[in-house]
Amino acid sequence: MAYQAEYIWIDGTEPTPMLRSKTKILADDVSTPPIWGFDGSSTNQATGDKSDCVLRPVFTCSDPLRGGPNILVMCEVLVASNMRPHPTNTRAACAKVEKKYADAEMLFGLEQEYTMMRIDGTPLGFPEGGGMPAPQGPYYCGVGAGRIAGRDIVEEHTQACIDAGLSISGTNAEVMPGQWEFQIGPLGPTAVGDQLNVARWLLQRIAEDYNVVISFDAKPMKGDWNGAGCHTNFSSVAMRDSYKAIISACDAIGKNYMELVQNYGVGIEDRLTGQHETAPWNKFSYGVSDRGASIRIPWQVEKDGKGYAEDRRPNANCDPYTVSRMITDIVCGAATKGKKS
Ligand code: ADP
Ligand code: MN
Ligand code: MN
Ligand code: MN
Repeated sequence: MAYQAEYIWIDGTEPTPMLRSKTKILADDVSTPPIWGFDGSSTNQATGDKSDCVLRPVFTCSDPLRGGPNILVMCEVLVASNMRPHPTNTRAACAKVEKKYADAEMLFGLEQEYTMMRIDGTPLGFPEGGGMPAPQGPYYCGVGAGRIAGRDIVEEHTQACIDAGLSISGTNAEVMPGQWEFQIGPLGPTAVGDQLNVARWLLQRIAEDYNVVISFDAKPMKGDWNGAGCHTNFSSVAMRDSYKAIISACDAIGKNYMELVQNYGVGIEDRLTGQHETAPWNKFSYGVSDRGASIRIPWQVEKDGKGYAEDRRPNANCDPYTVSRMITDIVCGAATKGKKS
């Protein structure tokens, strides 16, 4: 029996790219999804006269929604004329840096926050027809009507991620009503991006059936409402072994903090205000248990004297390949320099 392969890729929408997908029917004797293509002139990735872009499969898992032998195929985009990475393909650079610093065995865990929206752009969990809900407080990890909205989508998405075999490590309701989080990882720099993108696609696909829009906007509601981030937990093999390596990693990031912030997603200044569990975007700090710091070292990590650190700055709308590539480059680059001198 033939089966369906859903090819997923990242488009060229600015300022924040979107996921796209289309379906290829594969004969039952085809076990690896082949290279495919799409019309880049419809995705802001090519001009009409040279419209063909190439889809190269990079990560495949079973399709938990269609079930059976059907699969999801995460792809990277290549330029048809030379088969080189397309300018929108940030994965290629990430894979290169991962390879360069393979010895460091970098691991990442991403906490993807997002906001469920009605079609009219109001958050699910805000009163229908306008007005404001009661202030933040009871919603984070809450239970019960009036506190929680959209849990059926979360349940379905979580099970779908498990059925697909993704490394989902948890979920929780967030501080603003209608805002949720799931975590992917720990995984290597490139794999965490692949899996996060598949998980993002599944979430948007499932919410579609509920007529709910998933927003990765970093600050969907102005005012006294939390923004949405993608806290990035990271460790090298050295950090998993020594507290000193964790401090060195934080110091290395501190030396490059502005370059990172500029690549952590659109609208970061609106989210990292110094309020709502954030550090100001233009000021770097790190500390144990400090949710007002740029980087938090979890209390358990200080106690154990080893583990990982959490860069709290990446936005919900960040590109995971860019975030993991830059952290890997900076943390491992500094560690290598330290060894040589
Ligand atoms: P928080 O307390 O900030 O809400 P979460 O439990 O939501 O933390 O997320 C923590 C993330 O850190 C998870 O995705 C987990 O897989 C990841 N993680 C755990 N250990 C490591 C490690 N050694 N290196 C990188 N990531 C890790
Ligand atoms: Mn979390
Ligand atoms: Mn969170
Ligand atoms: Mn966190």
